[in-house]
Amino acid sequence: MKPAIADGHVVTIHYRLTLDDGSIADESFGGDPLVYLHGAQNIVPGLERQLAGRKIGDSCEVTVPPGEGYGEYDPAAEQTVPKTAFPPNVELQVGMSFQTRGRNGRPMPVWIRKLAGDDVVVTANHPMAGQQLNFKVEVLDVRRATAEEKKHGHAHGPGGHHH
Ligand code: ZN
Repeated sequence: MKPAIADGHVVTIHYRLTLDDGSIADESFGGDPLVYLHGAQNIVPGLERQLAGRKIGDSCEVTVPPGEGYGEYDPAAEQTVPKTAFPPNVELQVGMSFQTRGRNGRPMPVWIRKLAGDDVVVTANHPMAGQQLNFKVEVLDVRRATAEEKKHGHAHGPGGHHH
């Protein structure tokens, strides 16, 4: 019997992510498939939820609203900082991400949204925040996770360890 995708399974998929403007944001077709541990938040919540119950050989289209994807766009999460706040040896570009510390002191990723003279507008919004995510998915493999994979919270490759 073919196992259906459920928590504690390692799942191999090919996927194509298309945004509403028709642009392809990401895809694995033609390259290495994505291998992830289901139920461990390795992928966006809406995709994980809608892949549950699928089986090897299934092919599907999955639509994920922003709230279950990379979040709603929050205009308040923007901040203007001087260029001098960045390492001098880095050529700043729109879309680059940096690790900063949030108000609670925990590491928080930010992305460069705009370069304006000596100022840099950074945002805590993921570049795909506010976007509906349209996935085309093919399920290539489903297997039970090993105890070690469950402990680590991610899938390991066929050659054993990955770290
Ligand atoms: Zn590991």
